[in-house]
Amino acid sequence: MFASNVRVGLGYDVHRIEPGRPLVLGGVPLEGPLGLAGHSDADAILHAVIDAILGAAGGPDLGTLFPDTDDRWRGASSVDLARIACRPVLAEWEVANLDVVVRAETIRIAPVRSRLVAGIAAALEIPADRVNVKGKTGEGLGPVGENRAVECQAVVCLVRRKEIDR
Ligand code: MG
Repeated sequence: MFASNVRVGLGYDVHRIEPGRPLVLGGVPLEGPLGLAGHSDADAILHAVIDAILGAAGGPDLGTLFPDTDDRWRGASSVDLARIACRPVLAEWEVANLDVVVRAETIRIAPVRSRLVAGIAAALEIPADRVNVKGKTGEGLGPVGENRAVECQAVVCLVRRKEIDR
């Protein structure tokens, strides 16, 4: 049987834009008039990243671990969710690289890109050079383009830690 030491995971998330709500992306609180609606802090980046990591490990997804019907997770920090969900996985698997696309129309990603990279790396407790973030607009199309939502996609490559191999 083929036992892979390299695994790939894909994560996706979308949150509705709501004026007056806090805006937290990649664990970083950002300034601005627009925020994101959600049961937790609505951090679409970390939610996609967590699902990518859990997916690569073949684990349950974010919504299964932290259901939005559970009051324990109301207003939860997604950095805390990332630590709870990803620490056990990352004890066995190392992040080779994590690539993230954030789709937003008027919320500008490029000026805060390096802060997002640092925030994601800190949340996962991994080196920042393993993390890449790209911002894309919606070109006026769909919920993102109409400035009604922020979408995020994440792909992660995990490599089994050598100690575990022995
Ligand atoms: Mg979410």
